[in-house]
Amino acid sequence: AQQQVVEHERLAALGELSAVVAHEVRNPLGAIFNAVATLRRYVPGTGPAHTLMGILEEEANRLNRLVDDLLDFARPTSPQPHPIPLARLLEEAVRTATSGQPRVHVEWALEPDVPPVPVDERMMRQAFLNLALNAVQAMPHGGTLRISARRYHEYPGALIEFTDTGPGIPPELRERLFKPFFTTKATGTGLGLAIVQRTLDAHSGHIRIESPPGGGTTFQLVLPLGVDAPATQVG
Ligand code: ADP
Ligand code: MG
Repeated sequence: AQQQVVEHERLAALGELSAVVAHEVRNPLGAIFNAVATLRRYVPGTGPAHTLMGILEEEANRLNRLVDDLLDFARPTSPQPHPIPLARLLEEAVRTATSGQPRVHVEWALEPDVPPVPVDERMMRQAFLNLALNAVQAMPHGGTLRISARRYHEYPGALIEFTDTGPGIPPELRERLFKPFFTTKATGTGLGLAIVQRTLDAHSGHIRIESPPGGGTTFQLVLPLGVDAPATQVG
């Protein structure tokens, strides 16, 4: 219990620090965006100057994303769980992740008997979004994202799966994916799955990866109906 208190205080301090840093970073970023927009008006046409302005904007956008993810990751978690329909959260997250991605085909397999597990709406929507975004990003040339939700049978709860037809995840990476800042993407922050993990911890849930040698990845989530679900692994 003592350890939990220390952990909680550590995260609260990290949350406060992140909020301050985020604010201090956002202001200069805003100035950079404005300066580039003004430059574009002064320097007409195309050419090297425009390539450089593009780089400025791209990198400033990346810092913006980092700040967003960092805030999400470090925000002190006091989840407010309510029994809301998971289908709605899943649909919202998948719609956001796949908008402007005509080559990603979405397949739904939502069973009517999914129990109404209590979740913090904001946290869980973000977790679903992170998983859907990863799936979309794993399929740059298109593919199928399959979302399934059904009743979990080992104890009362819901089983949710995100399956993509991307290249899959090599076994040696699977342990490290959930660590903050681990990324294999040129413009990734490596915080998406760390946020997913924290959200599941806050809901006494579990996550497991299946990635068969032939390619494709499934992230499997179990969300318990009650807070006192057994602390067993999914499987
Ligand atoms: P980011 O997306 O910013 O890289 P994440 O924490 O969301 O950070 O993911 C960490 C890493 O896990 C990714 O860089 C990628 O290597 C791997 N990964 C996550 N989801 C998938 C997926 N569906 N298919 C293949 N690799 C994945
Ligand atoms: Mg991600």
